[in-house]
Amino acid sequence: MKNIMFIAPPAAGKGTQAELIVEKYHLPHISTGDILREISKEDSEIGEYVRETVASGQLVKDEIIYQLIEQRLKKEDCQNGYIIDGFPRNLEQACEYDKIIERLGYDIGNVILIDIDKATLEQRITGRRICANCNAIYNINDKNNTPKVESVCDQCGGKLYQRSDDNLESFQTRYKTYQEKTEPIIEHYKEKGVLKTVNGNETVENIFKEIEKII
Ligand code: AMP
Repeated sequence: MKNIMFIAPPAAGKGTQAELIVEKYHLPHISTGDILREISKEDSEIGEYVRETVASGQLVKDEIIYQLIEQRLKKEDCQNGYIIDGFPRNLEQACEYDKIIERLGYDIGNVILIDIDKATLEQRITGRRICANCNAIYNINDKNNTPKVESVCDQCGGKLYQRSDDNLESFQTRYKTYQEKTEPIIEHYKEKGVLKTVNGNETVENIFKEIEKII
């Protein structure tokens, strides 16, 4: 299966869609946000830097990201396709990614843009809850996506938590960063002829149907 890359503003549902693809097609899901949230738990200088940067909504330094990405993509489970989510986040990262996949002999595959309006994102951001055990994503502001039992994961019974950056203040920074730094990469992939767009204002199921048509 071709590799899949997601481009989307914060809380557009890329993590949710990636998990649905994992369930059905068994591709590894590489989320730089998830990797950084793990690092932010470390009691070290880098742990502290990542913790503070992620909570503020700014981007973590490119050099750290490049190391994480290349190490992860080299692993054997990526040889037959993978989903990359949260990377690249700016044009420099997109150019570096071109070099990394050339070195590893991988193909760009499908780049999927989730197009969604800001008002919907603002509504969603405070409702997102994530399972601390299996990373399943819920949204208590969306009646079709609330857990059956409050704060408990339907899938594994794990405890749900709210991300440190899922508040309106941090969202404004993350959205601005998306517009200024990430949106320019859309053109990069349009020029390569690999960009596909789905409507992120649709339901989780309908977005997944659109994605399945693409992949
Ligand atoms: P996400 O889970 O993709 O929303 O990412 C959460 C946060 O992790 C972002 O707001 C950034 O602080 C950081 N982050 C994730 N991916 C990257 C990346 N590719 N480059 C720099 N920072 C990143």
